[in-house]
Amino acid sequence: IGRHKGQRTSAGFEYNGVTFDERSVNVFAGLCAVDNPENVDTMMAALARLGIRTTRMGAYKPRTNPYEFQGLGAACLPWVFESAGKHGIKVIAMEVTHPRHIDEIRDALERSGNATGVMLQVGTRNAQNFELLKSIGQQRVFPVLFKRGMGITLEESLNACEYVASEGNPKIIFCLRGVKTHLGDPHRNMVDFAHVPVVRRLTRLPVCVDPSHAIGQAAPPPDGLPDIFHAIGQGLIAGASMVLVDFHPHPEAALCDGPQALRMEQLPALQRYVQLVRSAY
Ligand code: PEP
Repeated sequence: IGRHKGQRTSAGFEYNGVTFDERSVNVFAGLCAVDNPENVDTMMAALARLGIRTTRMGAYKPRTNPYEFQGLGAACLPWVFESAGKHGIKVIAMEVTHPRHIDEIRDALERSGNATGVMLQVGTRNAQNFELLKSIGQQRVFPVLFKRGMGITLEESLNACEYVASEGNPKIIFCLRGVKTHLGDPHRNMVDFAHVPVVRRLTRLPVCVDPSHAIGQAAPPPDGLPDIFHAIGQGLIAGASMVLVDFHPHPEAALCDGPQALRMEQLPALQRYVQLVRSAY
């Protein structure tokens, strides 16, 4: 990941026609958990109307509670990829929690026959699942979105990325998503976006911020923008080049993390906000 002296070349890579580097800003707005074809299609259509070609779609969900919705898994991949193809979506960020999920995604993509690509997401709970990290590193097809471990040091998270890179896959984006503290917090996690410039200094990896999992609530205060927007601003000003953000057509009916999902009508505002912040800094 470029931490050794002399290795630090310019950050970034291109995948499926989308550039990921320190100059680009890619917004991955989408469903935390795929639930039905209508919601997936509504999301992808809204993105396409705004010219956004990237999204997030959770098929394999790593839930803390085994009795909660675990994601539709491989069963939803055919219709997710069909919808992506129909709307010209170029890259879908999708979490994998087991090495076999990589094969399932590759097979379903091939069968779909469309030009959509996938970025494999490693969730915070799997940040030190070394066998998963090695499998993701050994495949060269998909780039990787690595989410920092919520309860380990930054150094330990960077070492986890080395597991991916040292197996042969250098196409990694480092994602900040908040960290756990014992102090209590008005937000779901302690927002760690001040680490954006630190990661950029220490590595050559492009940095993503996930304000949804960091903040954990989408409801705006009576007089202003949701905290999620402010956190996005902080991340972009600090140098993030990717934003992962939860949306849902009906947040109150979402099967996972509904309270942090922005509403579809907030998508144009989000796009304008990102452009505004980016053009100012
Ligand atoms: C997610 O992005 O769907 C997710 C579960 O995030 P995290 O791993 O950051 O909790």
